[in-house]
Amino acid sequence: MKTKGNCSFCGNEYSGSGITRHLNNHLKAIQLSKGKAYFHLRIQGKYDPIYWLNLLVEQKTSFEELDRFLRKIWLECCGHLSAFEIDGLSRGWGWIDEEEEDEIMYSKLSKYLDEGTTFSHTYDFGTSTELKGKVQGAFVLPTLSKEDGPIKILARNEAPLFVCFACKKEVATEICTACYYEADEPYFCENCMEKHAETCEGEEYFLPLVNSPRTGVCGYDG
Ligand SMILES: [Zn+2]
Ligand SMILES: [Zn+2]
Ligand SMILES: [Zn+2]
Ligand SMILES: [Zn+2]
Repeated sequence: MKTKGNCSFCGNEYSGSGITRHLNNHLKAIQLSKGKAYFHLRIQGKYDPIYWLNLLVEQKTSFEELDRFLRKIWLECCGHLSAFEIDGLSRGWGWIDEEEEDEIMYSKLSKYLDEGTTFSHTYDFGTSTELKGKVQGAFVLPTLSKEDGPIKILARNEAPLFVCFACKKEVATEICTACYYEADEPYFCENCMEKHAETCEGEEYFLPLVNSPRTGVCGYDG
């Protein structure tokens, strides 16, 4: 399964794999000799790359601000811990001490990132959602509008559509978390959800299907 998304500059639709280069072309065309320094970041689900974001982020933004942004758009359920790992810094999760984690979290992006740098982000160290990211380009550009703040969404995947597991007809809107680990896609339409709940663990195990790599995990409901 693949997802598409629209370019925020021209509105045209592109595949998740084609849009990054397309956005870089727009960004190159509006580059200035003086202005603010930005990174073009591509961030996606590590195991479910159908969920992706292309972001324009001021280089002086902190990792903590980026973390807050990712929580808001994709992740936050009950205030779990999170951390970034920068590839090329030889620190594994088990070895990072809190001081080092904080040191990354409260640094500016430009301290650790440059064109081509890859990184990962983990939200919740129990039922984790893992993201991976890459700096797709560095640009000097006119200042973003105030509404955008330091992070602007250049493109985002359209919500993927899943067909109901039971009737195989309707678009699914709910996910049964009781079967999540046994069935591949325990996604149900509203009609089939009730029937399924009777034979499964009950309605309290249902969560809404949402456009996020954390859909169906912990209590995440969008
Ligand atoms: Zn475009
Ligand atoms: Zn949670
Ligand atoms: Zn159905
Ligand atoms: Zn179930």
